Amino acid sequence: MAKCYYCGGDVTFIRRAGKKPLVVNPTPVYFIPDPNGEDNFIYNRVWRRGTRSSDGLKGHILHNCED
Ligand SMILES: [Zn+2]
Repeated sequence: MAKCYYCGGDVTFIRRAGKKPLVVNPTPVYFIPDPNGEDNFIYNRVWRRGTRSSDGLKGHILHNCED
């Protein structure tokens, strides 16, 4: 498994044609797509806005430890 350059945590890369790979947490999260949701998820290599839910779609969240 890949390691984050900054914090040393486990990360996974989502590769996208012609774009920089996204660095995400390896543990999936579940969400319900919602245009008014408060969080962003990566589902099927595409950004989706939504709300976390235990029985939603399986996606990933960006690994964002640099802030
Ligand atoms: Zn990190």
